[in-house]
Amino acid sequence: MDLSVKPGDDFYTYASGVWVKNNPVPAKETRWGSFNLLREFNIQAVKDILNEAAADKNAATGSVTKRVGDFYAAAMDSAAIDKLGYKPIKKDLKRAGKVKNVQGVLNEVAYQRTSGVGSPMFGFYVGQDRKNVDVMIPQFSQGGTTLPDRDYYLKDDARSQKIQEAYKTYITQLFSLTGSSEKEAKQNAETIFNLEKKLAAAQMARVEMRDPYKTYNKFAVADFSKTTPNVDWQPLMANMKVTGEDTVLVNNPKFFTELNGLLTSTPIEDWQTYLQWNVLKSAAPYLSKPFVDANFAYSQALTGQKVQTPRWQTMSQMTDRTIGELLGQLYVQKHFKPEAKARMNELIGNLIKAYEIRINNLDWMSAETKEKALAKLHAFRPKVGYPDKWKDYEGLEISRKSFFQNVRNAGVWGYNDMVSQLGKPVDRTKWGMTPPTVNAYYSPVMNEIVFPAGILQFPFFDPNADDAVNYGGIGAVIGHEISHGFDDSGSQYDKDGTLRNWWTEQDRIRFEEKAKTLQEQYDAYTVLDTVHVNGKLTLGENIGDLGGLNAAYEAFKMTEQGQSDEKIDGFTPDQRFFLSWAQVWRGNILPEAAAQQIVTDPHSPGQYRTVGPVVNMDAWYEAFNVQPGDKLYKSPEERIRLW
Ligand SMILES: [Zn+2]
Repeated sequence: MDLSVKPGDDFYTYASGVWVKNNPVPAKETRWGSFNLLREFNIQAVKDILNEAAADKNAATGSVTKRVGDFYAAAMDSAAIDKLGYKPIKKDLKRAGKVKNVQGVLNEVAYQRTSGVGSPMFGFYVGQDRKNVDVMIPQFSQGGTTLPDRDYYLKDDARSQKIQEAYKTYITQLFSLTGSSEKEAKQNAETIFNLEKKLAAAQMARVEMRDPYKTYNKFAVADFSKTTPNVDWQPLMANMKVTGEDTVLVNNPKFFTELNGLLTSTPIEDWQTYLQWNVLKSAAPYLSKPFVDANFAYSQALTGQKVQTPRWQTMSQMTDRTIGELLGQLYVQKHFKPEAKARMNELIGNLIKAYEIRINNLDWMSAETKEKALAKLHAFRPKVGYPDKWKDYEGLEISRKSFFQNVRNAGVWGYNDMVSQLGKPVDRTKWGMTPPTVNAYYSPVMNEIVFPAGILQFPFFDPNADDAVNYGGIGAVIGHEISHGFDDSGSQYDKDGTLRNWWTEQDRIRFEEKAKTLQEQYDAYTVLDTVHVNGKLTLGENIGDLGGLNAAYEAFKMTEQGQSDEKIDGFTPDQRFFLSWAQVWRGNILPEAAAQQIVTDPHSPGQYRTVGPVVNMDAWYEAFNVQPGDKLYKSPEERIRLW
C-alpha cells in the first residue's frame, strides 16, 4: 500500500502503490500483477507435474500419466525439433502452392481445417443455436486475418504502421526460411498483407460484434450459397466433415459476400501464397528455433516483451491448451481440495442470495421484469473446480518421438470432436476452460457460471483468510460472473439461455440509460497519451464488476465479520473488503501491451477495474471517509446504481 496517498484521490495507488513500484514487469512477461503471480504459481505446479509424468518409467501405456508425459517430453525435445527444420510442413506448402482455381482454393481451405493445419479464410465452429439452445448448429464467422484486430490493417498511425512493418518482416522471414528468395519473400509479404487487409475491411468492429441479434443470421444452406455464388456450401461443408445439416448461423453475412468477390478478383497465385502462409504461421511455434525466434520477434512488436518466454513455460501452456483435460486430472489430484469446493458452493449460494435481495430492491425495474430476472438468477448452474466427466481424448495418438505430429493429431482430434457434436443432444457437462486456468466465465447459452480450480487460490480465495478478503476477492469474481447474465449482452438471454427478450420496454430503456452512463464513465479513462478506454467495448465487463462488487458487499454484510467493526491490522472489515478487491487488480503492463489491450480486450485495465465500481458505492465513501473535493468523489446522485 501507499499510505501517503489519500484513498479518495487515488484509491488504486493507496491500495497497491508500493507493490506496483516494487514489482516491474519481468523481462519474459508483458504484464505483471496478482493474476500473474497466481498464474506463475500454477505454471510452476504444472511444470512439476509434467516433468514428473515425463520421467515416470512405470507409467502404463494409455494411462493419463503416460500420455501427458509423452506429449510434454516430445515438446521439450528441441534437439529433435531443430534437426527437422521445416520438414514437417514441406508437403503442406507444396500442396497449398499448387491450387489451380477457386474450387481448388476452397478444397484446400477445407483440407487445412480438417487436418489440423490451420483455419484460413473464415471462422467456423459448432455451438448451440442461441435461439434454440438444445440444438447444436454449424456457425460461420468472419476471419481470415492474422493481426489481433481489423484496426491494425486499416489504421495508419505510427503505432499501427510499426506493427504492420513487423508483421511483413515476419512473413518475409518465414518464406525466406522455407526456400523463397528474398525478393519473392518480400513480395509475398505485400500480397498477404493486402489480401488480409481486404478481409479486415469486410469484418465488423469488435463493438458491433457484441450485439447478439445483429450477429445472428440463420440461413438454409442453399440460401447461404445464393449469397455467395462462388461458394457452394453444401459440398464445402461435406469436405469439412459436416453432413446432414441443412441450416447454418452466420455472424456477418456481408463478410462472406465480400469474400465471394475476392475469390475471383484475387489472382490464384495470391491465394496460393495466402494458403501457404496459413501453413507457415500455424506451424511456426512448433518448428525449429529460427521459426520460433521469428514468431517471437513479431509478437514483440505487439506486446513489447523483452525476452522470450522459456520453452518449458510455453510448452507447459501449450500442453494445457491441447490436452488440458488429461493434464487437468493430474493437476486437481495435487492442487484441488474438496474443502475448497464446499466453501465455494457456500460462497456462491450467499452471492445468489445477495443478488436476489438486490434485484428485489431495484428502484428502476418493474415487478414484472424482476420476476423474470429472479427466475434467471435461480436457474444459474454453477460449476466449480473441474468437470464431472473428463474428456478422454480417445483415439488421439501421442508419441514421444514426434512433437509436430502430436500437435497435428491433436488438431484433428479437436476438430472431429467439435463436429461430432452435431445432431447430438447438447452436452451440459462440458467445460470451456481447463482446471489449471486462473480465470472464470459465464456462458449465456448454458446460463452457467464456471470457476476452474486454478482461480480458487490466494489472492482470490484463501480458506484461512477472513471473510472480507474472500468476499472482496473470489466473492466479487462470483458476483462478476453472475452479473454477466445481466450485462448489456447477457441480459438479452432468458433463464433457459435462449436469446429472447424478457424485459418490459420501459425497463429495458431504463437499463440502457444507466448502462450508457457507465460507458461514459469508462470512456473518460486515459491509458497512454491519447489512448482511452473504450467504454462500449468494455461495457459488459464493467457492468460485471459493478454488479459483482455490489453483490459481494451485500453478501459480506451478512457474515459475522461483515456485521462487526473489529479491526485487523488497523483496518475495518469494510476497508479490508475494498482493499482485497483493489489488490486483486494491481499490476504493471508494458505500454505496447497496454495499447493492444485497449483495442482487443473487453476488460478495462486493472487500475480502472479497481476504481470504476467503487466510486459508485456509498459503502466505499463511508469506509474511507471520501469527501467532496477528493479527486474520485462523485455526488450520491451521480453514483451509478445498476444491479
Ligand atoms: Zn467478465
